[in-house]
Amino acid sequence: MAGKKVIGVLALQGAFVEHQAALRRCKAEAIRVRSKEDVKAIDGLIIPGGESTTIGRLLVDYDLGDSIIERSRAGMPVFGTCAGMIVMAKEIPGSDQYSLGLMDISARRNAFGRQVDSFEAYLDVKGQAKKIKGVFIRAPYVDRVWGETEVLSVYDGKVVMARENNLLVSSFHPELTPDLTVHKYFLGML
Ligand code: GLN
Repeated sequence: MAGKKVIGVLALQGAFVEHQAALRRCKAEAIRVRSKEDVKAIDGLIIPGGESTTIGRLLVDYDLGDSIIERSRAGMPVFGTCAGMIVMAKEIPGSDQYSLGLMDISARRNAFGRQVDSFEAYLDVKGQAKKIKGVFIRAPYVDRVWGETEVLSVYDGKVVMARENNLLVSSFHPELTPDLTVHKYFLGML
């Protein structure tokens, strides 16, 4: 086997510590990404949940956007959860916030409505035998996919997980449960 793959977790804001811990529980090598040098050193990237406007602003301030876009166009796997999903979307209805614009999806922010700010649900995910527990926190959903994007999970009629080749997104937070299925799925894309 070639050298061990290194997964980066974008560590500007949000739930990066939890993703790093989940990756380590998968026995993967996980580093925090805060510089262009970090982006060069990784084989895959997770963009965590948090606040998508803040993550977007920090991507601009740290001047990391172009290097992530370049690596992802060259095939590096990128996985965005919750705010990370928004940051990866080509369209964010009703917002002009910064986005990497990587994936052929429209991601609607805070889309499950205020009365259900946060909730948990068991999800059917394409290709997975067992249901996966999804933790949703002021979660977005995907309201439109196009191109090569494939829907992997739907909850309450809304797309909550999708993949386009080397790109993966989920509305929910797989790093907040002990179940490593989604992280292992992402590692399988490397
Ligand atoms: N609502 C947040 C946003 O729009 C996302 C919430 C989350 O990542 N848990 O950025």
